Amino acid sequence: MALSIAGLLGSIVAPAARLRAQSDTTQTTATLFRNVKVFDGRSERLGPSTSVLVVGNRIAKIGTDIAPPARATVIDGGGRTLMPGLIDAHWHAMLVRPTPAEALAWDVGYANLVAGEEATATLMRGFTTVRDVGGPVFGLKRAIDDGVVAGPRIYPSGAMITITSGHGDFRQPFELPRTMGSAQTRMEQIGGSMVADSPDEVRLRAREQLMLGASQIKLTAGGGVASPHSPLDVTTFTEPELHAAVEAAENWGTYVTVHAYTPASIQRAIRAGVKCIEHGHLMDEATARMIGERGVWLSIQPFPEEGANAFPPGSEERAKFAEVVAGMDVAYRMARKYRLKTAWGTDVLFSPAMARRQGELLVKLQKWYTPAEALVMATSTNAELLAMSGKRNPYPGKLGVVEEGALADLLLVDGNPLDNLRLVANPAKNFLVIMKDGTVYKNLIR
Ligand SMILES: [Zn+2]
Repeated sequence: MALSIAGLLGSIVAPAARLRAQSDTTQTTATLFRNVKVFDGRSERLGPSTSVLVVGNRIAKIGTDIAPPARATVIDGGGRTLMPGLIDAHWHAMLVRPTPAEALAWDVGYANLVAGEEATATLMRGFTTVRDVGGPVFGLKRAIDDGVVAGPRIYPSGAMITITSGHGDFRQPFELPRTMGSAQTRMEQIGGSMVADSPDEVRLRAREQLMLGASQIKLTAGGGVASPHSPLDVTTFTEPELHAAVEAAENWGTYVTVHAYTPASIQRAIRAGVKCIEHGHLMDEATARMIGERGVWLSIQPFPEEGANAFPPGSEERAKFAEVVAGMDVAYRMARKYRLKTAWGTDVLFSPAMARRQGELLVKLQKWYTPAEALVMATSTNAELLAMSGKRNPYPGKLGVVEEGALADLLLVDGNPLDNLRLVANPAKNFLVIMKDGTVYKNLIR
């Protein structure tokens, strides 16, 4: 009996990959982009006018003399720019539209439908991939991969793992004390974040997220802005706790990334084997040097000053936000100085209005980088970070580049973003074609 139930469950939870494989073999599509100048995701300049042929979900050929295969869609680029789809390295697909209270209170089905609509909007802003660093995103990811709803590729972390009172612990004081084996809180039931207070608990929670399909594991190693019980200065997990997660992730061929602003929390995480730091806005010179020497990634975001408006005037959260923003300029300068492997992301939370400005948050990099450097970061560099998921990479293949054999995530841009980065801030107008995985989701050319 037990065996047959296991067999039945096996067929119910058919991997999304199987469904994708079926659709790939039954309908191989082809698209030929003619007369385009390519930004390949790496170079500072556009290439000469050329053609790019997409067959199935990959870029098959790039060159001037490509004849379109039978039944291929031909798109005349009119000399415009063809570039890789944008990648946001720090996103929370399930937490963009609700308020914190709604994220806990909403019916899970409703929350997923709202997140699905936001995922489609995200794709329509030209973001063909997001790295999701916390939230119950596995169902949404599967629905997107299976073609149920249009949205970006998602590299899911699943629930953030936090300590009691840490960033991501949204419990009320009356919910304490927690006793071992007690019922889960709402936040844990929905898979938003998980509280773990020992190496064993961390190991358990990390392994659960891996079982659910996490491509990387996210812990919160220090205090945060939007969390009610964690001052910015605190260092949360102990080194053995962090190491337990690192070991669990590495046993699965992937890595741990941590939320950390301060030198103490960053340095402890690196000592524990963590491979990527989210934020890092308050790091000092010694910490930047350590990040560089250990080859750790810095996944930092250019937070807009008006982000403070999300928090009531005079509130603790607002003060914490101001402190982070104040550190940002120094942090970016050190990232440049020590040539840190730097990823770009937005970390839009609880604000559909800010999500509409996702591309504008890439333009903000111009304070420290050239347009070409910013675009390389949001394409090929971010893709290098995604590839750190190793065997847990849900989308094996090259992302963030336009080259033969790469996965076909492409934008046709009306103008040259290497000259005018502001083009990415108005995707509705300037992104004429949006393709993900070889499928055209938007085409204003025909
Ligand atoms: Zn975040």
